[in-house]
Amino acid sequence: MRKWAFWLGCSCLVMNLGWPAKASEEPLLQKPLYQANVHIDPVKKEVSGSIAITFWPKDPKHAYLHLYPDVFTKRQDGMLWEELLGKEPGLGTYDSNKLTVDGKAVAGKKTGHILEIPLAAEGKPISETGPHKIELNFAMKLPHNDGRMSYDEHAIWLGNWLPILAVYDQGGWRLDAYEPVGDPFYSEVADYEVNVTFPAGYQWASTAPDKAAEVIAPSKGEKTARLRVKDVRDFALVVMDASYQSTESKAGDTVVRTWWRQGDDVQQAKQNHQAAVSSLAYFHQNLGAYPYTEYDVIRTGGAINGMEYPALVFLDGRHFLANAEYAIDTVVHETAHQWFYGLVGNDQLREAWLDEGFTEYATIAFLTEQYPLHGAERVRRRLANGTFVPLYVKEHQRPWQALTEFPANQYYSDLVYSRTTSMLWLLRGAWGEERLYDVLRQYVATYRYQLVSGEQWKAFLTKAAGEDASAFLDYWMNLDMSQQEQAAAWLERQREKQQK
Ligand SMILES: [Zn+2]
Repeated sequence: MRKWAFWLGCSCLVMNLGWPAKASEEPLLQKPLYQANVHIDPVKKEVSGSIAITFWPKDPKHAYLHLYPDVFTKRQDGMLWEELLGKEPGLGTYDSNKLTVDGKAVAGKKTGHILEIPLAAEGKPISETGPHKIELNFAMKLPHNDGRMSYDEHAIWLGNWLPILAVYDQGGWRLDAYEPVGDPFYSEVADYEVNVTFPAGYQWASTAPDKAAEVIAPSKGEKTARLRVKDVRDFALVVMDASYQSTESKAGDTVVRTWWRQGDDVQQAKQNHQAAVSSLAYFHQNLGAYPYTEYDVIRTGGAINGMEYPALVFLDGRHFLANAEYAIDTVVHETAHQWFYGLVGNDQLREAWLDEGFTEYATIAFLTEQYPLHGAERVRRRLANGTFVPLYVKEHQRPWQALTEFPANQYYSDLVYSRTTSMLWLLRGAWGEERLYDVLRQYVATYRYQLVSGEQWKAFLTKAAGEDASAFLDYWMNLDMSQQEQAAAWLERQREKQQK
């Protein structure tokens, strides 16, 4: 079973020339389009289908796809895997075939869960000017575990299940293995057109605006939902039986739906819903417009705690028990991820502090204002865990390091969540809440639908502060103790300037 502790905020849990930061006003040219036809058998726990990916090559010779479900077809050993998947996870199966590029059959090469796709036919590099199309078929039997893609007797939850293009950034291709710590994902914004067929008696919720979706009945006893959504970093889906119901209300122009099942505590489900609605409205106000018309909060099985996806989050069943202690905090945290991860993307394997730390800061800022008892306790614990770190200094551990470097979830939580949050909380102390929100809003506007790096945040902070922020970030994010006094002096100057 997965650990149930305060520090699990969620799931579980850099630039070459020609890769300039794009201003948010620029139209998203060359955005990939994923078109899938999928059949789901909730009884047999089988998912099969085809996908076509229209994309602009980043490299004339290859493209790469992450086939994440492949990770769960093999036994994974160790404490961290056990914390992620549970004690005795059941393996799934995953097959992909009929791979083509622009209609011509090609031979892919699979290494781990990554599929390398050759683009150069007979030694001739593919044209980089036009879009190209990769197509493949896939079929899987779902694994049974506590993680992001599994099932129980009432639902199938599909996180990180469709093939997705790997990112090519200033460091070249990012082809990292799946990690049992953190959220080991990194993807660019794309459009999705997914047709999902499943038995007529089932319900669903996805990243797309589901209420607006066209539904057709292709054969007796089945229905097909035609799901369409633009500008999202991934596409998640949950198929639910008739034991599920939803509560819905609006936050601005967005319909918020919270889904729970028979046997759950109705009072808690309604409190979770209320926290989702009010935090979405608050972040929309303070961090910039929320662009999606529907936001789903879905009770899953398993023990993932909470997990963010674009326009949809998972919350495991423990958050729907009567008086669930961390339910509200978790709903708010996952909702804040709609901005940090969803709208502003980053390399979650190398710079997880950019999504988790900023998300957790926004969470405690909201809780402090609207759920003061939750807020005070969470601020206290984040500061306690994030500011006193001699053990981590001794072990050369820091927030700004890759997931592979964290030996345990506690290290990850204290450094990536608590220390980044502490840094931002102290900055708020110097600048005031309003100014910090002004800067974060500008940051979100600048990098909306893009990928951001830690170096870009450093440059952004330097500009906003009117003074080089390197020492401040080196002390807080790299645990460089030689910069401690400089960092404190920097913060003090910021406070004095603000007070003038
Ligand atoms: Zn999180």
